Amino acid sequence: MEAERVYNFNPGPSTLPLEVLREAQEEFLNFNASGMSILEISHRAPEYDEVHNKAKADIKELMGLEDDYEVLFIQGGASLQFAMLPMNFATKEHPGSYVLSGSFATKAYEEAAILGVGEVAASSKEVNFKHIPTQEELKINPQAAYVHLCYNNTIYGTEFHYIPDTKGVPLFADMSSDILSRPLDFKKFDFIYAGVQKNLGPAGVVLVIAKKSLLENSPKTLPTMLRYDTFYRKNSLYNTPPAFCIYMVGKTAAWLKKQGGLSAMAERNQKKAKLIYDVIDASGGFYRGHADPDSRSYMNVTFRLPSEELEKKFVAEAKAQKLCGVKGHRSVGGMRASIYNAMPYEGCAALADFMGDFCRKNG
Ligand SMILES: *Cc1c(COP(=O)(O)O)cnc(C)c1O
Repeated sequence: MEAERVYNFNPGPSTLPLEVLREAQEEFLNFNASGMSILEISHRAPEYDEVHNKAKADIKELMGLEDDYEVLFIQGGASLQFAMLPMNFATKEHPGSYVLSGSFATKAYEEAAILGVGEVAASSKEVNFKHIPTQEELKINPQAAYVHLCYNNTIYGTEFHYIPDTKGVPLFADMSSDILSRPLDFKKFDFIYAGVQKNLGPAGVVLVIAKKSLLENSPKTLPTMLRYDTFYRKNSLYNTPPAFCIYMVGKTAAWLKKQGGLSAMAERNQKKAKLIYDVIDASGGFYRGHADPDSRSYMNVTFRLPSEELEKKFVAEAKAQKLCGVKGHRSVGGMRASIYNAMPYEGCAALADFMGDFCRKNG
């Protein structure tokens, strides 16, 4: 690691691979011998076209998806997807059915509820979202347009460890905080989306990976920029795309391929998370994990300390050791270590060592 860099545990925007940042820096003033920065090139130029299409192809390759899926780039954040999904797919007769497993899952539901086309398939709200609803807890409405999940709950630190059986109802998932972190049978999902600023790039674009059949025809009553078919038919180039973000996403996808793809990432991510969960479990109750052990996330580790004074001290002392961004979200309190793909193993080892020391000195 470079001397002036810290280990960045922020939830998003979050740490990016150092190799990716360096490459972007090297190309910054003169992209691909064009004499221009990627920031200055037309989105209609052939140089940009290659960046755009390579990013799409690499993402599909990493996910093991074939020609029946399409990759779109859309602005407005994952939050706009919360609204676009019900606008494009749900009706009163065929509502969107939502699994409420955390705050973003609930926000997604609330957008459908505004339109009067949302219902709840399951919820773990009454236990402050410390576990992921099980298959048995899901009420699948066979008339639903889709079942919507948030696969990794960034704020609560829980993650699905199974793909629900929706009995033929299309499966939609917000994977903003765990996209491309492990292999999954992605073909079981009909529609996946992710704000890229957690695991793939800078803030400014959302990745949509969906079955083409869902994207071909959107309701004619919707304005152009709110329809998936606009993005599908124009290769996400109907209007000016956030070209720099897409370029960075492409670089991260290429980096993931170089690391050995999603299986290699999963193995590394599980080892990283285990370092921190092991310290929590061995601390004799000094650290209390928020998530139930069977719902623990590999991406966001949430835990509390015995008092808020100790939590403040923890944040300050961690920062002094270049372990930054560990303060948790106010709805859970305590700490959250976000350990996405780009967080190196050494960063998690450094945090685990610090936690062990802190517990011995203050426990
Ligand atoms: C961060 C996050 C969002 C919100 O993303 P925006 O791009 O800020 O709208 C939605 N869902 C999940 C799971 C997230 O982690």
